[in-house]
Amino acid sequence: MAKYIFISGGVLSGLGKGTATASIGRLLKNNGDKKIIVVKCDGYLNVDPGTMNPIEHGEVFVLNDGTEVDMDFGHYERFIGVEGEGDWNITSGKLFSRLIDKEREGKFLGKTIQIIPHAVDEVIEWWVDIENKHNPDYMLIEIGGTVGDNENFWFLEAARRLPKRIGRKNVAYVHLTYLPMLYNTGELKTKPAQRDIALLRSLGIHPDVLIARSHYNLPKRIRKKLSSMVDMKEDRIISGVDVKNIYEIPVMFYEQGMVNILSEILNDEINVNLEKWNNILENIKHPDNDITIAICGKYTDLHDSYASVIEALNNAGAHLKTNVNIKWIETTDIENNTISVEESLKNVDGIIVPGGFGSRGVEGKIKVIRYARENKIPFLGLCYGLQLAVIEYARNICNLKDANSTEINPNTPYPLIDILPEQKNVVNKGGTMRLGAYPANLVMGTLVHSLYNKDVVYERHRHRYEVNPEYHEILQKNGLMFSGMSPDKRLVEFIELPRNVHPYFVATQAHPELKSRFERPAPLFYGLVRACIKNETTSNKPTEIIRPNNKSIIVSSQTQ
Ligand code: GLN
Repeated sequence: MAKYIFISGGVLSGLGKGTATASIGRLLKNNGDKKIIVVKCDGYLNVDPGTMNPIEHGEVFVLNDGTEVDMDFGHYERFIGVEGEGDWNITSGKLFSRLIDKEREGKFLGKTIQIIPHAVDEVIEWWVDIENKHNPDYMLIEIGGTVGDNENFWFLEAARRLPKRIGRKNVAYVHLTYLPMLYNTGELKTKPAQRDIALLRSLGIHPDVLIARSHYNLPKRIRKKLSSMVDMKEDRIISGVDVKNIYEIPVMFYEQGMVNILSEILNDEINVNLEKWNNILENIKHPDNDITIAICGKYTDLHDSYASVIEALNNAGAHLKTNVNIKWIETTDIENNTISVEESLKNVDGIIVPGGFGSRGVEGKIKVIRYARENKIPFLGLCYGLQLAVIEYARNICNLKDANSTEINPNTPYPLIDILPEQKNVVNKGGTMRLGAYPANLVMGTLVHSLYNKDVVYERHRHRYEVNPEYHEILQKNGLMFSGMSPDKRLVEFIELPRNVHPYFVATQAHPELKSRFERPAPLFYGLVRACIKNETTSNKPTEIIRPNNKSIIVSSQTQ
């Protein structure tokens, strides 16, 4: 039988419940001998975040099974190494549609359906179903939102009721609260936390562990005060001070006795092994290199919409003892000529064009890609980044003037990127995308193959458009290498330029950032960071394109 650990949060949103949950999961996982499930309960009425604007909700994370879920799953997977499943993200939207379906099927036998007991029972059934399916040692359940929100009430009530069913010794409640600092006195204040815990208790949940989030380490005096005001032992209050590097959090919790507290509450023996984790942290503390990578997109002022890309860079950097700085480049500004591409990319060691939708900023991204290609700056294109790299190559190397994606220009003379005929009939919004992990066969001898060191890889996807098969031949004839294809060879999954042409010009139709782990970085990000380290001294040289017939041509901006 699994032990349940609930993680809730109060006072305000954005306290980092996701990273706290992920950190606790990493501690409990030990060497991987313990099975962990992480469930996220989100109060909103959307079925999933797939239809929400990233500016409002941050990145949409995609699981292997293709479900679009909350970005906290990124933390769970990167810290714990679990691979989430769609039903581990319970939204109120999913919960109520399930209830309404049951009502229509007549499953409630004439009863009036209410939040209590029906919605609450449904939540508990959902958790228990996941437990029965996977038989984990621990079920970590993060309750999204802030205690006191209308939308998470049914989840908190289900958490309160669970011990009646499985016993109090099998349940632990961890609560994140917040101690603001008064600017004028520099003092940490406990009152909001007192009110917050009183509110949680009024809902029937008595927290076992408090994580007191604050800007400073909790001074002894404040810990004592909080402990007496909320009537909790001092050693059950963990100081959750802001950290520069989120991967320090498991260690910070461990050092303050989180594992001992959980062992005590759950009556469980918990072993922890953080040796590898600590070694990687040491690399971060003592980097040998310092590089800057430009992320060129259109949501660059909301960094959360690129959370996994940032973390994938950090994870790769940590393994290569390299500090990766990020320069955010708004490609709309390049497109509008507010700033030149040269000026924007001055002093950057590498370039990423990440995923995206729609036409704003696209011509700016294409200029960036051309600049990376011609100046031999290590480049990684992700999803839209691959599509636009193909368009750039078609326009400037294959001489297909005005080549485009039909997403941007449905009347382009050269629809290099298009919706394939087999996808054209799908009309329902949520269902039109190619979502989730798909296999790709990698071509022996390519850079991509050498980085993955595998013949078949499964990366996750989230897109509608594809490289149009009608143009595969002309692209390849002009020197673009297809390093990975779908098993039926219809879909281009990975491209690259030969190593004698460019030190690192790689793009993928997938989102490899979604499978990066702190303890196992994503190969293409590892390759990019490594290429940036090696390339630090490279001067801007024109690009040499090797055609398959071995006749090379020199391409410079002047000759095109
Ligand atoms: N807009 C492109 C498509 O739908 C790329 C999507 C993405 O980058 N995730 O195919």
